[in-house]
Amino acid sequence: MKKIIFIGPPGSGKGTQAKRLASRFEIPHISTGDMLREAVNDGTELGREAAPIMASGGLVPDDLMVGIVKDRLAKKDAQSGFILDGFPRTLVQAEKLDAIVGNGTEGVRVLQLLVPDEAIVKRIALRRSCAQCGAIYHLENNPPANGSVCDRCGAEVVARADDNETAVRTRLEAFHRQTLPVATFYKSKSVLREVDGVGPVDEVFERIEKSLT
Ligand code: AMP
Repeated sequence: MKKIIFIGPPGSGKGTQAKRLASRFEIPHISTGDMLREAVNDGTELGREAAPIMASGGLVPDDLMVGIVKDRLAKKDAQSGFILDGFPRTLVQAEKLDAIVGNGTEGVRVLQLLVPDEAIVKRIALRRSCAQCGAIYHLENNPPANGSVCDRCGAEVVARADDNETAVRTRLEAFHRQTLPVATFYKSKSVLREVDGVGPVDEVFERIEKSLT
């Protein structure tokens, strides 16, 4: 059973790589950011609570996030493996995840994508995603084939609300202060694999596959 966790700063390619790996292994890609954006679009109670926090670049409270992930991991499709993208983002979440999966970090692989901060700000300025299905594009490296229309579902391709400079700075700060300790936590358990996240998507994917062998 494959239990894979992606850690990386905003704009490091986590979403893109996690989606690819999920289709390679035929296991679900569980992105807490996607789940929250869906809740915001649907106007649910969770969405209303998360929207202003996400817009500012801050982190949604741990208890809410742990609840969402616990419910999602209980679903049938996650019983033969999963790829977590964007969770855990704090030490509290990492500890709670250990309890949720039952046997701690046994069989878990954590991939940390390394991308310097200077590269992040540049990447995010050119990032676009599909408002409908969440497909991710980059205006230079991976643009949609037809202007601002999604290749996969035909909906509009837009910039994320939190992909502005102020929110990105806050997100980077949250990453350094709250998420990097999570990488250290997994390193101490010898399940962390650090992968250079700079370069073409295909090359980074090859490095990821190699790091899992
Ligand atoms: P992402 O798509 O992973 O960049 O997440 C977008 C935003 O959703 C983040 O900036 C947070 O506001 C929120 N978020 C996603 N996952 C988590 C999490 N595990 N803990 C707290 N907030 C989260």
